[in-house]
Amino acid sequence: VVALAATVGLASEDITATGLVLIALATAIGAGIGLWRARVVEMTGMPELIAIMHSLVGLAAAFVGWNGYLDVDAELSGSLLGIHHAEVFIGVFIGAVTFTGSVIAYLKLSARINSRPLTLPGKHVLNIGALVAFVALTVAFVARPNMGLLIAVTVIALALGAHLVASIGGGDMPVVVSMLNSYSGWAAAASGFLLANNLLIVTGALVGSSGAYLSYIMCKAMNRSFISVIAGGFGTPAAAADDGEHGEHREISAEETAELLRDASAVIITPGYGMAVAQAQYPVAELARKLRERGVEVRFGIHPVAGRLPGHMNVLLAEANVPYDIVLEMDEINDDFAATSVVLVIGANDTVNPAATDNPASPIAGMPVLHVWEAADVVVFKRSMAAGYAGVQNPLFFRENSQMLFGDAKQRVEDILRSLDALDTPVKEMAGTSR
Ligand code: NDP
Repeated sequence: VVALAATVGLASEDITATGLVLIALATAIGAGIGLWRARVVEMTGMPELIAIMHSLVGLAAAFVGWNGYLDVDAELSGSLLGIHHAEVFIGVFIGAVTFTGSVIAYLKLSARINSRPLTLPGKHVLNIGALVAFVALTVAFVARPNMGLLIAVTVIALALGAHLVASIGGGDMPVVVSMLNSYSGWAAAASGFLLANNLLIVTGALVGSSGAYLSYIMCKAMNRSFISVIAGGFGTPAAAADDGEHGEHREISAEETAELLRDASAVIITPGYGMAVAQAQYPVAELARKLRERGVEVRFGIHPVAGRLPGHMNVLLAEANVPYDIVLEMDEINDDFAATSVVLVIGANDTVNPAATDNPASPIAGMPVLHVWEAADVVVFKRSMAAGYAGVQNPLFFRENSQMLFGDAKQRVEDILRSLDALDTPVKEMAGTSR
């Protein structure tokens, strides 16, 4: 708001009344759409909203760059003019990469296209070739600016942005979202240089560097190489062919799960994206409360990329008033599964996939996961045998100590609550005795 007001204020002498009306109209329409989208978006739709917002920043930066070429300040000459043309070129490049990269991220996150990594032959050569072409074209453009070169870099950047994000596998998408956040910051900073707007440079650099740092932290949490993710999945192992031979899975009913829980001494709940979809956090919190009243030790194990946003599960559990001290991070709880009677996997899939530790050929190999399978019994709440976000089958479902509780997570947890109440009568006398 400060930037907008200052920019309009500084330029007001040169702006006609019609210009001011147009600016006011554009601001009102933009702000109206932004407020409306942010108000109606579901928590599960947040990452794709963020991705599409980043694409707008990229598009704006590319337009500002083009405008800088078409409308050169007559006072610029010599090396200042050269710097101006470099800024135009770099601004258009970063903006266009951010634009298509974010559009592809939006399409992947909203499941409009498959989240599997695109593996074109020689994909790394294509990426490096695009970067080399960009550097060469920048030099040529600064020496002899012309529209043909600017069109060429725009096309190359649009293709590179789409290709970089399309090559990244489902499991690495959290890093991509924060990386595009960073790119959008650099795109804004590039526009700031072109428009000689210090505020835009400062805010852009702030977003750019904090986004880059967040991407680095997320890469560390997922045991991924930062360079390999930003280079479009450089060095990630090829996806193993899924032979489909996983054995049989067993099913369990809500009543049987209630009995398991009644007899448990320690329970860990590991929620995932499905809990957000089902909005099951309230009955889950109620279940935790009930079990704790019976003397069962209940804790939550939260994977750093569970759900579709960093901190997604923590937000939902806080909303349902789950006490903070029983909500633990993966590193804090991972050694405790072996001493746990029952694990309830509520709508989580990739974040509890043993293939990440057991199968080096898996697309999610090396990603730290919650070791839920080490518990005595595992109950997996989901609607079908479908794969999770990364699109890989989960051998957990076929383990001897795993049982599937099919259906919507919210309804199933409510069924368990009812069954626990029904079981209550004989158990009441024993309340207080730890089982
Ligand atoms: P997953 O996306 O791997 O799996 C979620 C599971 O929930 C699905 O298998 C689905 O199975 C089940 N499900 C969906 N709806 C319901 C419902 N109503 N009731 C019960 N189950 C339901 O979840 P995780 O949280 O384990 O993993 C997160 C994944 O998302 C990771 O791959 C991560 O990399 C990625 N990601 C994370 C981001 C982040 O910042 N946290 C951002 C972008 C991506 P079924 O259809 O059979 O019900």
